[in-house]
Amino acid sequence: MDLADGMRPDKRFRCDACGNLTRFDLEVVERARRFWHAELSGEGRVEGEELVSQEVIDAVCHWCGTGEAVRVVDAPGAVEATQPE
Ligand SMILES: [Zn+2]
Repeated sequence: MDLADGMRPDKRFRCDACGNLTRFDLEVVERARRFWHAELSGEGRVEGEELVSQEVIDAVCHWCGTGEAVRVVDAPGAVEATQPE
């Protein structure tokens, strides 16, 4: 199971321990390309960002604190298309 799939619009996380579907603490490794705009004085800021890659290392339920019971399931819209309940 790829935990990053849980962030896709057609998927979601589910905690089988307490039933939580909406609140999770994610540990993520991201690689980004940023446009760095600096003033001649040296002060700078990020003005644009492109996410190059994203990997979810761990997903823990925000309510019960369980990590082992968190899994990725289809979001309701995605399930309707193939397997109505
Ligand atoms: Zn939980």
